[in-house]
Amino acid sequence: MSKRVTLIRGDGIGPEIMEATLRVIGALDVDIEWDEQQAGAGAFEKLGTPLPEETLASIAETGVALKGPLETPIGAGFRSVNVAIRKHFDLYGNVRPSRAIPGVNTRFSDLDLDLVVIRENTEGAYIGIEHTIPPNRSAAESIILVTRHGSERICKFAFEYARRHNRDKVTLIHKANILKETSGLFLEVGRQVANRYDDIEYDEVIVDAMCMKLVTNPEQYDVIVSTNLFGDILSDLTSGLVGGLGVTPGANIGENCAMFEAVHGTAPDIAGQGKANPTAIMMAAVMMLEHLDYDAEAQRMREATHKVVGRGEEVTGDLGGSASTEEFTDAVLREL
Ligand code: NAD
Repeated sequence: MSKRVTLIRGDGIGPEIMEATLRVIGALDVDIEWDEQQAGAGAFEKLGTPLPEETLASIAETGVALKGPLETPIGAGFRSVNVAIRKHFDLYGNVRPSRAIPGVNTRFSDLDLDLVVIRENTEGAYIGIEHTIPPNRSAAESIILVTRHGSERICKFAFEYARRHNRDKVTLIHKANILKETSGLFLEVGRQVANRYDDIEYDEVIVDAMCMKLVTNPEQYDVIVSTNLFGDILSDLTSGLVGGLGVTPGANIGENCAMFEAVHGTAPDIAGQGKANPTAIMMAAVMMLEHLDYDAEAQRMREATHKVVGRGEEVTGDLGGSASTEEFTDAVLREL
């Protein structure tokens, strides 16, 4: 039976990198029925809203979305369309794998890194409750919210992820020595969850120490779980270890829905010029295929893309090459 997926091409370079990705998925042995929907600045122009009801209804029905980057138009009534989608579907788990691509030269190339950061996506320091204090904005306050429920579900998610992906260890990142209540609660709940998973090794590291350890000895880590702010920072750090945001995908997972995307934005400076690198969105599509239980086809697509990126001959300008998006995609198709 075919699997239905909501497709949002997105703004800026979105349509170009998505077209490239659809060409590769089209060459795989998978049965996906795309339900194409709009969101972002393009939708705002055509339909007067950056997040149409039909788009939300489609994601609710299919439960899976592959999404290009979105620009949030000013005056749209949202601070961010991406955040609005995550909130609407309570996509609490942000999964950011950082996997070394053989052939791509980084300072850490010889370590063959394969880390995953799992970030709590709905609470922590990012709930948006902050204000300044008069006179003259002389101070500012913001609230960090950590709940037992939110901590429990993200830690459980991290251990379940480790099991499903045959990973050995989960490392919980906190700052409970200073943020005794908020980070303290996260740590307390994380320990309770860890006790239920005898088959997975567990350790915990204070966030500042973790930054140092990740740049001195990153190969000792596997799955990393943390609250919203620390997870945001650490996931960019781990992306940097393996070649940067241009190759990094992300998934946002909830109880009923999952949305897959590239970590980068709409790249307006190169949009429409055929220069965009589709690697990150292709890797997001690989995560989506795994989510749909097309593990073998996901592996095929990952290996073909990695081969082309690693060889470095038919890559786009951001990776030091001169290939167009289309030439890069042709090369990936030849490797499938
Ligand atoms: P950006 O990621 O769009 O661009 C940063 C730099 O990286 C630019 O020089 C760009 O050309 C380059 N770049 C990014 N992706 C690339 C790719 N695939 N291939 C080649 N080069 C690439 O970040 P920004 O400029 O800060 O943001 C631009 C817009 O994107 C903003 O409107 C922002 O809100 C939006 N944005 C959306 C998402 C999302 O939809 N998830 C994420 C981040 C930013």
